Amino acid sequence: MKANIFNIQKFSVHDGPGIRTTVFFKGCPLRCAWCHNPESQNSGFEILYSEDKCTLCGSCVKECKNKAIEIIGNKLFTNLDKCTFKGDCVITCVNGAREIAGKEYTVDEVVKEVLKDRVFYKNSGGGATLSGGEPLIHVDFIEELLKRLKEENIHTAVDTCGAVAFNILERTAKYTDLFLYDIKLMDEEKHIFYTGVSNKLIIENLIKLSEIHKDINIRIPLIEGINADVSNIIEIIKLMEKTNTKKVNLLPYHSIAIHKYKKLGLEYQSDKMSRPSEEKLNYFKGLFQEKGFLVKIGG
Ligand code: SF4
Ligand code: SF4
Repeated sequence: MKANIFNIQKFSVHDGPGIRTTVFFKGCPLRCAWCHNPESQNSGFEILYSEDKCTLCGSCVKECKNKAIEIIGNKLFTNLDKCTFKGDCVITCVNGAREIAGKEYTVDEVVKEVLKDRVFYKNSGGGATLSGGEPLIHVDFIEELLKRLKEENIHTAVDTCGAVAFNILERTAKYTDLFLYDIKLMDEEKHIFYTGVSNKLIIENLIKLSEIHKDINIRIPLIEGINADVSNIIEIIKLMEKTNTKKVNLLPYHSIAIHKYKKLGLEYQSDKMSRPSEEKLNYFKGLFQEKGFLVKIGG
């Protein structure tokens, strides 16, 4: 059994308690307009190409046995239908203009990677976080991986968008110490507009999950121009009051991912999104605190 993973990040301090190793899986049912990891959305491999680093030297064109790369005029094109994602072009490019997003791992390989930093987890109260993308779309792999990590006494966290069948959450809940559960927009129409899917299942799942799991941190990405408004926050508070959740992380938007969109050849509407002011973030923090929730600005 293998899963496509695009990054294993060591010494992560924003994805749960302590020092963690965060494993980023490829594939997500949502298409959030602000997504910081656009290379996570598709489950297959992808080529990231930095036009600004490319000197059009032609080495990758010569190296590609499948003739997937062409230079036409002063532009380089990759035909993804011909590409086998073996990465010969990546190795040959001395300018680092080409990267492949995605690498297949077995459960054993991920466990081995996570265990390398066991000493740091022990000293800091950390562990492993499974993120993405949406890790739970790889449910068989994730269930086995969580089980193995628990056998090794590693604290486990799952970062989920919640848009999966409830039985998947149930199957994984028994091996998950902490869920990081994203809530973005309470208005269904806006949710569909900005993420491509309804929020109904996400909300239902949160209510049901909180009945069977006691440790769920709500995570709210806050984007000025999209969801950083009082009515959205008040509706999220009302939802949290229906559940047993106590902790919330407010994650202010940042535009760090712009370069990734360029490399993937995707459009990014950064002009419509910005970070909410500190004043606004603190006001929202106060609204949660008034209702007795533990709030942190940041991960
Ligand atoms: S090898 Fe690198 S620099 Fe040369 S054409 Fe290919 S992508 Fe551009
Ligand atoms: S849920 Fe997360 S990974 Fe999926 S599209 Fe939204 S921000 Fe990106």
